[in-house]
Amino acid sequence: MKVESFIPPLRTLMGPGPSDINPRVLAAMARPTIGHLDPRFIELMDSIKELLKYAFKTQNEVTFPISGPGSAGMEACFANLVEEGDKVLVCINGVFGQRMYENVLRNGGVPIVIEDSWGEPIDLNKVEDALKKDDDIKIISFVHAETSTGVLSDAKALGQIAKDKIIIADTVTSLAGSPLYVDQWGLDAVYSGSQKCLSAPPGLSPVSFSEKALSKIKTRKSKVKSWFLDLNLVLNYWSGDQARSYHHTAPINSLYALHESLVLLKEEGLENAWKRHHDLSSYLENQLKGLGFEYLVHPDYRTPQLNAVTIPEKIKDKLFREILLNQYNIEIGAGLGPLAGSIFRIGLMGASCTYKNIDYLINAIKRISINY
Ligand SMILES: *Cc1c(COP(=O)(O)O)cnc(C)c1O
Repeated sequence: MKVESFIPPLRTLMGPGPSDINPRVLAAMARPTIGHLDPRFIELMDSIKELLKYAFKTQNEVTFPISGPGSAGMEACFANLVEEGDKVLVCINGVFGQRMYENVLRNGGVPIVIEDSWGEPIDLNKVEDALKKDDDIKIISFVHAETSTGVLSDAKALGQIAKDKIIIADTVTSLAGSPLYVDQWGLDAVYSGSQKCLSAPPGLSPVSFSEKALSKIKTRKSKVKSWFLDLNLVLNYWSGDQARSYHHTAPINSLYALHESLVLLKEEGLENAWKRHHDLSSYLENQLKGLGFEYLVHPDYRTPQLNAVTIPEKIKDKLFREILLNQYNIEIGAGLGPLAGSIFRIGLMGASCTYKNIDYLINAIKRISINY
């Protein structure tokens, strides 16, 4: 085997994540590594926490990035909040809801499932009925933006319906792409990912916990089953006035990158970022409809950052995506589960959400279709 440097191709990332990364973020990642307890690094951690509060629209003191991908943030929420025997209402309308179910089971909880079809939002009436039927339900969990289908569920209404419960919400794809008000909506534990609308490298999961969530964690009868994700321990590193103690070695350079991506978000303004995703997805929609693509999801509850479109009959799913990748360096996503082979998932996340990218993709689709 020849040993040589790995030079990745220059792709345009228009799938379900990761998204394109601004050169400023990549440059930040290449800066010199310092120690994870260096006072200058602690300053950076504090700045990341402040910027994440801004992005989540929360005053929660416990707002920080878990060292791990979005899935680690998901595990952190369930491992800390679910105790043996806890009843958890799990809303499932796609891949990520299914994973929440697994998390409840593995932490010894008792899942009560509400299912909606893929491409539909969580049915508020079903949630209300389920909560009325069973007073013992302690926690409810749902996915705000289901990346497997491009559906945005009504997190605000769910927050209202379940305000007496602990609410766990997956905001991996919604954060920085769609309106999200963690405090106003009463969401108690949220997790996200660095590589979707924040457009930082993958591997970090911003989370935020309310006082209500923290008091459940502090009064647990049993230890959190995961040592690494136990908030009681992790917070010795991520909080406190300067006196931080070693828990694990933080991914220092990835945190430089996350910080820079948050600075970029602050410069643009969160509301402006939401508007950009909204406006450019309308632009994409007009172009795609002209080419014979239909949207899977009703416009009332569609995510702008993930556009699920049905594949026209003349187009072959896998071959088409291969040509896009190999000849045009564009990555788009395939359908998952029951939607495999019948939809494309076109991401407009963070730095990928530009007119330039949309025009490039649309032109590529037109050229490929001519030569088909
Ligand atoms: C991507 C994604 C995840 C998982 O994030 P990873 O970083 O891949 O672990 C979880 N939930 C949703 C809604 C996602 O889109």
